[in-house]
Amino acid sequence: NATGERGDMPEDVTADTPEDVPGDVTTGVTAGGAQAETHAFEAEVGRLLDIVANSLYSEREIFLRELISNASDACDRLRYAALTEPGLAAGDAEYRVTITPDAKKRRLTIADNGIGMGREELIRDLGTIARSGTAAFLDHLGGDRSDDVALIGQFGVGFYSAFMVADEVILRSRKAGEAEGWEWRSDGKGRFTIAPAEGETPRGVSITLHLRKDAKEFVEPDRLREIVKRYSDHIALPIVLVADGEEETINAALALWTRPKSEITPEQYAEFYHHASHLFDEPWLTIHNRVEGKVSYTNLLFVPSARPFDLFHPERKGHVKLYVKRVFITDDCPELLPGYLRFLRGVVDSEDMPLNVSREMLQHNPVVARIRAGLIKRAVAELKRKAAKDAEAYASFWENFGAVLKEGIYEDAGQRDTLLELARFHTVEGDGLISLAEYVEGMKEGQEAIYTISAETLAAARRSPQIEAFRARGVRVLALTDPVDEFWVAAVGQYRDKPFRSVTRGQVDLDRIAGDEGKDAAEGKDGGKDDDAPDDRAIDSLIAAFKLALGDAVKDVRASSRLTESPVCLIADEGDMDIHLERLLKQHRQLDHVAPRILEINPKHGVIRALARRLGAGDAGDAIGDAAKLLLDQARLMEGEPLPDPADFAKRLAAMIEKGMGRA
Ligand code: ADP
Repeated sequence: NATGERGDMPEDVTADTPEDVPGDVTTGVTAGGAQAETHAFEAEVGRLLDIVANSLYSEREIFLRELISNASDACDRLRYAALTEPGLAAGDAEYRVTITPDAKKRRLTIADNGIGMGREELIRDLGTIARSGTAAFLDHLGGDRSDDVALIGQFGVGFYSAFMVADEVILRSRKAGEAEGWEWRSDGKGRFTIAPAEGETPRGVSITLHLRKDAKEFVEPDRLREIVKRYSDHIALPIVLVADGEEETINAALALWTRPKSEITPEQYAEFYHHASHLFDEPWLTIHNRVEGKVSYTNLLFVPSARPFDLFHPERKGHVKLYVKRVFITDDCPELLPGYLRFLRGVVDSEDMPLNVSREMLQHNPVVARIRAGLIKRAVAELKRKAAKDAEAYASFWENFGAVLKEGIYEDAGQRDTLLELARFHTVEGDGLISLAEYVEGMKEGQEAIYTISAETLAAARRSPQIEAFRARGVRVLALTDPVDEFWVAAVGQYRDKPFRSVTRGQVDLDRIAGDEGKDAAEGKDGGKDDDAPDDRAIDSLIAAFKLALGDAVKDVRASSRLTESPVCLIADEGDMDIHLERLLKQHRQLDHVAPRILEINPKHGVIRALARRLGAGDAGDAIGDAAKLLLDQARLMEGEPLPDPADFAKRLAAMIEKGMGRA
């Protein structure tokens, strides 16, 4: 359809629009007579292009890597589609990418015979941000241009990177199975046009870059060879350089994972990782091995060294690509790996599945199940080895992915024990991470339990009043700061026969634990003999007065043995939900009713003593009730909780200060 007679004008096309405001489309007639539509890029793409086109990014040669990577993916997709619909690849099933420089015209053409794009795809995939990595790139922009530019390398901006070297991009495409070809053009300045292509369009995509003056190096065959060798050698299809009428394959054109480890350099692994994962950090760990047996497969898996942006996406999607005998099948096979290993990237290539395996057939597939079991075992073993070999490097892995791996403790009973050994924790007292084994080995005499505190952050855990007496005695408390902790701790219950115990729930009996510096340390600064100290009866009366004043707002009031510095804290009752979990569920609207807490008071604290004395002297009046309410609110504040009645708190506090200062 080169005549421009297009009766079926799509809805989003309006002819004769006077101005092209973003999102609008105008039509015109090209030199050849074909109808061209002008589209505005989505605002986000416009922003991206502005940065890309104006960047002085030093490694702009990566545009070639990005375009070749897209071309290779497009061939993989067609190869897979043609398994069930051979007609799609009819006539040309020798997948390849060609690179044709034209020095005279300062042009570079990158072409593939992959699946191609139709009109819809051209508009959707090249006019909007299709790629989640690119969206993440935009999210990370800070506004400082040089910082922003540095991010290009980190995220890889795909197709749009062409505008780092070109002032015009012309893309011709015919989608497999369709007769009509399309031409897409843009100078990267906010708009692109689409028109039916003239003449015969070969299947696939061909991208011609009009190179900028300062980018003419990219027509030199040697430079192109060098770039392809550096970034794209691992691409499994031939990359053919067409120069001076000669064709030359310039990459190894062999799936990297099929090559022996000894022949692969760390740089080649890293480049493959970038291509397969769309991540641009260096792999923290590379797991490359072949398994032969009941099922045979090769895996080349990577653990990233930085946290990918979608790690905590609720879908918990895996990112490992499945191949069968070197043919790409899918990158969406949830059965291949459990959610708790979703940080792994790379490929698995199976020998034991039919090539035409459909995505549906992958569900409940015994071969996939076996591969999954093998991959889990392997990954966990490799992590264990790394943990034993290099604790510091392992700590950086743990900070990135520990929260994900811990999901496995909860979900995968078979791996539970191994994963517990792999887990690391911050403690409220020390720097650095420790394992549960280290915790248990460092337990005090008489200590029966593994003490934990749940909090939003490590800093919050460290500020918690409930840990004071533990700290004073040198008893370690593990800080649990990931939401998943609430679940696995409950599921596991104990480690090496030592139960996990939250310091914010139930009673603690610290007296049986030998302290660091004897008992005095644990008794607080002014511990030991103290004539001034209120006796038990005075404290009991004070507790009774507090209960009366606080009513239903608390479940109970009792004397605390876990406080040394703070006057009060809140505790969940033994059978109730722990404080942090309750708050978490409330935040996620999973819970609207919160059980009343127990208020613990510190009989050794000055405020509590003074109150007990006043009560004993019989002249306290309303002061005890006011103080009880203020102290309860203070305990809530320490938990980081909103006060039920802030105005009431403020009024009481002001009155108390006024009283303290003496009336003016
Ligand atoms: P990404 O490749 O990460 O998805 P890009 O911006 O590079 O992001 O490309 C956007 C989309 O355009 C791709 O997902 C793909 O669907 C399509 N695309 C790009 N290049 C090609 C190509 N050579 N052949 C077919 N489709 C392509």
